[in-house]
Amino acid sequence: MLKPNPHYADLKDSYLFYNIAQKTKAYCDAHPGTRLLRLGIGDVSLPLCPVVVKALHEAADHQGKKETFHGYMPEPGAPFLREAVAAHYRSRGISLDTEEVFISSGASDELGDILDLFDRDSAALVIEPAYPAYVDANVMAGRRIVRLSSSEEDGFTPVPTADIDADLVYICSPNNPTGAVFSREKLKVWVDWANDRGAVILFDAAYEAFVTDPALPRSIFEIEGARTCAVEICSLSKTAGFTGTRLGYTVIPKALERGGMNLNAMWVRNRTTKTNGVSYVIQRAGAAVFTPEGQAQIRDNLRVYQANAKILTDTFDGLGIRYFGGKNAPYVWVKCPGDMESWAFFDLLLNEIQVVGTPGAGFGSSGEGYFRFSTFGSPEDTGEAAERMSRLIARILARPMT
Ligand code: PLP
Repeated sequence: MLKPNPHYADLKDSYLFYNIAQKTKAYCDAHPGTRLLRLGIGDVSLPLCPVVVKALHEAADHQGKKETFHGYMPEPGAPFLREAVAAHYRSRGISLDTEEVFISSGASDELGDILDLFDRDSAALVIEPAYPAYVDANVMAGRRIVRLSSSEEDGFTPVPTADIDADLVYICSPNNPTGAVFSREKLKVWVDWANDRGAVILFDAAYEAFVTDPALPRSIFEIEGARTCAVEICSLSKTAGFTGTRLGYTVIPKALERGGMNLNAMWVRNRTTKTNGVSYVIQRAGAAVFTPEGQAQIRDNLRVYQANAKILTDTFDGLGIRYFGGKNAPYVWVKCPGDMESWAFFDLLLNEIQVVGTPGAGFGSSGEGYFRFSTFGSPEDTGEAAERMSRLIARILARPMT
């Protein structure tokens, strides 16, 4: 009889978002007509930019005419889009060969699929608090997980400790959920560590477009030595509102080899076997993002989210609450007021002021006592939520200590 993959039994229930949905539904059922202010979800609220929509329409028309119709696309990506991405990196001083860029249907797909390149006996290091998919994708593959906790002391950007025994390491910068961004110096420590050990860094750059401080890196390939130890996984989801349109890209340098095998060549083999390429129409839409017009239009949208972040960080500054992120990242990671636990703070915000956020404990045990606010909502909701939180938190902080 067929045996299913036994490792699925090792997965923990996806408690975080399920629990948030359950609690929120229970509140709404008990209080019909309530307007919830949702600062919890990681989805965007602004639509695609006009230049992207125009490209979608034009590409759809191409597909309707014999002369311009496209069938299967090259599995690693359309040359026009691979070149547009490589040019985008070049404009930031990073030189890439077009064949080092792979077009994907999004970062989530790649974060899971890329694990095909690595032995199941290799161990994966996850820096917590972390985006939950890193752990689950490796559990499904039966891989050993090593956890490294980050904290306020290291600014949620730790460097490797001498005792770490892992072969793959996930670095997410700007980070979901903490909003922390690794400095060039800290990334250099990781790059040297990975090259020394023969490890590979999976650099999740889904939020790179939110980095505005030129002193901070947006790509691991800004760091000397990264071409021999890193893969970068990127997405247009948050950069350009492609969460429902689906497009991303992955950079695998040709110089990246392990055990005598070339990871770029292995990924070509993988994609040509397991995919038939990303839709022509969507790749045309993606290419529009990298035009000067596209870059200007996505910047206008990013500014809306950045303004939301400022509303929240100004509020927490005013209240004297410690927080991370929000400056070069779309998430604000807040220390729960009055030393509350994160689910208790969730309940308080929901029941008292109908604001929904994400409890830090859901991102790993080192997230306990913290809370994540997303800046992807509407400015109106964010402003209203900030006002309500101001009043509520001021009240909590004014309570006499018991
Ligand atoms: N990586 C991180 C850190 C994320 O937060 C997300 C989405 O929220 C993703 C990857 C997935 O992005 P995509 O929509 O491209 O699958």
